[in-house]
Amino acid sequence: MSQITYFSTNHKAAEVTFGEALLKGLAPDKGLFMPNAIPTFSKDELNALKGKAYYEIAAIVFSKFLGEEVPMSDLLAMTKDAYNFDVPLEQVIDRKYVMRLDQGPTASFKDFAGRMMGRMMQYFLKKQNVNKLILTATSGDTGSAMAHAFYGLNNIQIAVLFPKDEVSDRQRKQMTTLQKNVQIIAIDGKFDDAQAMVKQAFSDPDLACLNFTSANSINIGRLIPQIVYYIYSYTRLRKQDSNDLEEAVFCIPSGNFGDMMGCVLATKMGLPVKKILVATNENDEFTTLMNSHKYAKIEPSRNCLSSAMNVGHPSNLARLIELYGGNMDEKGNILKEPDFAAMDKMFYAMSVTDAETRATIKQAWDAYHVMLEPHGAVGWYCVEQYLSENDIDQDQLLISLETAHPAKFPNAIIDAIGVDPELPESLSGLEGQEEHFDSIEGNYPAFKEYLDKRYQWRK
Ligand SMILES: *Cc1c(COP(=O)(O)O)cnc(C)c1O
Repeated sequence: MSQITYFSTNHKAAEVTFGEALLKGLAPDKGLFMPNAIPTFSKDELNALKGKAYYEIAAIVFSKFLGEEVPMSDLLAMTKDAYNFDVPLEQVIDRKYVMRLDQGPTASFKDFAGRMMGRMMQYFLKKQNVNKLILTATSGDTGSAMAHAFYGLNNIQIAVLFPKDEVSDRQRKQMTTLQKNVQIIAIDGKFDDAQAMVKQAFSDPDLACLNFTSANSINIGRLIPQIVYYIYSYTRLRKQDSNDLEEAVFCIPSGNFGDMMGCVLATKMGLPVKKILVATNENDEFTTLMNSHKYAKIEPSRNCLSSAMNVGHPSNLARLIELYGGNMDEKGNILKEPDFAAMDKMFYAMSVTDAETRATIKQAWDAYHVMLEPHGAVGWYCVEQYLSENDIDQDQLLISLETAHPAKFPNAIIDAIGVDPELPESLSGLEGQEEHFDSIEGNYPAFKEYLDKRYQWRK
């Protein structure tokens, strides 16, 4: 197969290699990078994945997208290092399962994408003998996921700014106990101040020598890792004694739609999928789009219990529209309509209220003794509705994603079922560890002076 290149969804930037797209993040024309061809798995190749370890399947998926750029042995080394934790598949009833993506270092599914993106960036930077400094602002969870994703890597430093009074003790400790190439900076201000400071640093010519990069959620390097767990769970849960490829249903609690794009790409690669259930919280712009074929972003986004999905304009939507033959610009204007008939066939979209989310945490516990946190509960509510509205065979394979560990949302769980979820080791080991971070004022001159001093040696 010829080498896959990556184009921008705004169609005004030149096509680049995977390595270039990875290190650039956003395309120069502000579009998102997409592969110019989607590689496929034949039936025999899918059958041959049966029984393989997660990291092996991950390397095979990656080799399809960048086989000409990175040899298999290097891919295997990276995936083995990135995926050193379990991916439990918990049976709920019949052939309906919850896939728990919460066993990584920050107990969130974002570990899957972040850890692999970090290792790939390191790989390409090392090859070019270049160092990069990642700057990011956080209101809590993203910062710790990114800090852990890049922790201990070479050629990459990461600096994370957080508003000192807006982050929980546990969220702060998840970042400040790391050290090595991770620098944590508390600012006397709000999240918006932190974000503005990072933005200004990126465009400050005086600091260009520090070689900044961002590692945000639209990076193509975060998308491809999110294809893997759909393929993995299918190979584990499909009928093992048959070589026929049965169809699966997936349910994805969604915010920015990165996770859902992973499933769509897996489907385009040949994974047999009957339906993709897209579950959102009260930010219902996608459900409205599917019902009316008109798009309007929600501004400001609505605050819901499943806080990581409070997104009023999913940044990956442009990629989805592109895959279905349409075009959407970075502001959310649909310039060319996608094939809505094909989308209707593939997706079942639903918006779930906070009351329904709470009731589902209780119902799943009472009926099946399955513990869900708010994001996974949004997904499971959607599953229940889909099953009740459609005549679905008892034998139908269905996999619903749980994207965070219940112990990250103890209050919601205690309120719903009266049980305090046990902390996983990655989170409980933080007590008593020494914290390291610097504190600065919440304005740009203070930040600039800090960066100048702290990273002087790079100049
Ligand atoms: C980020 C996140 C989501 C949403 O994922 P997207 O790829 O943005 O749709 C869902 N659940 C949790 C816990 C998250 O952190």
